[in-house]
Amino acid sequence: MGYPLIILEGYPMEFSWRKFNDSDFWQAIPEWKEVDRETFSNHKWQDKNSITSFKKFIKIASDIADPSFIEDAQKGFELAPMAVRVSPYLFSLIDWNNPVEDPIRRQFLPLASQLQPDHPMLTFDSLHEQEDSPVKGLTHRYEDKVLFLALDTCPVYCRFCTRSYAVGAATSQTEKVSIKASKDRWQHVFNYLRESPQVEDVVISGGDAFRLKASQILEIGEELLKIDHIRRFRFATKGLAIMPMKITSDLDWTNNLAIITEKARKQRKEVCIHTHFNHPKEITSFSEEAMGVLFERGIKIRNQSVFQRGVNDDAETMIELTKKMSYINVQPYYAYIHDLVKGTEDLRTTVQKGIEVEKAVRGVTAGFNTATFVVDAPEGGGKRDIHSFEHYDKETGISIYTAPSVKPGRRFLYYDPIHSLNPSIQRLWRNPRAANQMIKDALHSARK
Ligand SMILES: *Cc1c(COP(=O)(O)O)cnc(C)c1O
Ligand code: SF4
Repeated sequence: MGYPLIILEGYPMEFSWRKFNDSDFWQAIPEWKEVDRETFSNHKWQDKNSITSFKKFIKIASDIADPSFIEDAQKGFELAPMAVRVSPYLFSLIDWNNPVEDPIRRQFLPLASQLQPDHPMLTFDSLHEQEDSPVKGLTHRYEDKVLFLALDTCPVYCRFCTRSYAVGAATSQTEKVSIKASKDRWQHVFNYLRESPQVEDVVISGGDAFRLKASQILEIGEELLKIDHIRRFRFATKGLAIMPMKITSDLDWTNNLAIITEKARKQRKEVCIHTHFNHPKEITSFSEEAMGVLFERGIKIRNQSVFQRGVNDDAETMIELTKKMSYINVQPYYAYIHDLVKGTEDLRTTVQKGIEVEKAVRGVTAGFNTATFVVDAPEGGGKRDIHSFEHYDKETGISIYTAPSVKPGRRFLYYDPIHSLNPSIQRLWRNPRAANQMIKDALHSARK
């Protein structure tokens, strides 16, 4: 690790983050061997060929993966709380010589052999987004900013989604809260916003803004721009990371986004995109082109990563990701310590690991292109700087945060994954009385 070493050892430097995969990488998958670049570059083709069921998966994967992997995935599909949906773009970026370890596979394709029991303190909707919700599909937790869930579908489904209580089709493991894209429901949200003069900032999420129709981007944008006290809003979409060709092939969508951004600028308001890259491998020449188009049209893009075990929980990967995003004008904004989400314990890592990696990343490039590492405090404390805990015990894995500007006087507990703790502590967590005692002790030390 460490780029200074590269300078010393092998000048000229590799500048690896400036290189973008521009090969026809999908043609290595027999099913898509004949698919030319033009076809692959079309978002409609990407959508139509997305892998949304085990049946579709096996049709494509049986040529490229071992029977044991397929069997493992079949059980994974059955056990996963989150529906599966993977774009061909992502699917073909997986290293099919070693899919088990691959960072993209880990995020999107569940394997039964890797699943770990959930943490005993895990609850559905761990961030309590529904509790802080004055109107269906709107979370108002912070004074001046709100989260508007415009719809509940996405162009892919991420295993680690914190909103798996609503997003994606119901699975055999979960029922979901429904948050459909509906004019009627949106009107209630806009009414609430009109009557809430303290709100200046709206996050339009879901689901994913990539799934909004071009006309709906205009519709939502124009409604919000009519409200004087709203000064800025962001469309949240993972789309740029998993189907960048939509920007260059769905011209209505991109145009309408640019129209709203420009209209906002004339009113001296800010509209931007928040996206979600987690690994440098997800950034190819398709991404470079899409970000270039958006940048030319004056659309600011920020990124929120989720810090995941075996995906990006090491300094080298996070440095490469940071530099690669910076290079294409995507500004790293947050790196989230993984929320407590059902069925994703294998992807979680510790607060300590987050602190270590943050230390390594800070300083490798501009400060404004360096993510703040945050814990989104369970039970609605909101995002807290990972370093700002009142108490952290690496042995029990309990950290305690406060959020004076959000919920003064309350304490919010976050828990490192059980598999990261030593076996004697793991046993304590399995015993409800002992677990309770560890929590009590932690709260007691935090008061000191
Ligand atoms: C993340 C979030 C926001 C936006 O917070 P920023 O720190 O400004 O990105 C707003 N509301 C809710 C409920 C959120 O979770
Ligand atoms: S794209 Fe976002 S909202 Fe959709 S499943 Fe992934 S993390 Fe969840």
